[in-house]
Amino acid sequence: MNEVEKRRRINKLAREIYRCRKCRLYRSRKHAVPGEGSITSRIFFVGEAPGKNEDEQGRPFVGLSGKFFNQMLGKIGLSRNDIFVTGSVKCRPPQNRAPKNDELEICKKNWLNRQIEIIKPTLIVLLGKIALKQVLGVKENLDKIHGQMRQSNKQKCLITFHPAAAMRFPGVRKKMEQDFTKIMEIIQNKTV
Ligand code: URA
Repeated sequence: MNEVEKRRRINKLAREIYRCRKCRLYRSRKHAVPGEGSITSRIFFVGEAPGKNEDEQGRPFVGLSGKFFNQMLGKIGLSRNDIFVTGSVKCRPPQNRAPKNDELEICKKNWLNRQIEIIKPTLIVLLGKIALKQVLGVKENLDKIHGQMRQSNKQKCLITFHPAAAMRFPGVRKKMEQDFTKIMEIIQNKTV
């Protein structure tokens, strides 16, 4: 698929996501957040769910944890224009509660899987335990498995923490920085 066609399909999907009413989360959202960034990137980041700022703007990672995420990317020589980033679910859950299983399933089947199918990244970076559950279907302790690579269908996934956790806890931040160094090595060595 050429770049123009990829862009057309991603934009069409985004328009459908903005109008989505497939689960209860549409009732409390202001804006759905389809995700954004480079559609030719080899790296695709999956977060959790939009927060207050993201819900207001319809854009992913624009609040405080977004700033922190940008800094983490900067440390390995990347910017938001070099990657694609989206959430496990596209709408903000009320009071920032964790997304429920049926919300995750509906959003994965209808949107996340299709975004991955169009962009065809070689590496998916899972930011936090919700992304881990959403993409790999596992509920393991992040402290034990962060930094690991696991296979999901055609893509390799790198497991790490959510920026909001790393921002709050210096210990988590250190581990996340180590994981991001791995991303840099993967890009440089073209090992995926
Ligand atoms: N997922 C997140 O974790 N944060 C966002 O801003 C959007 C999706």
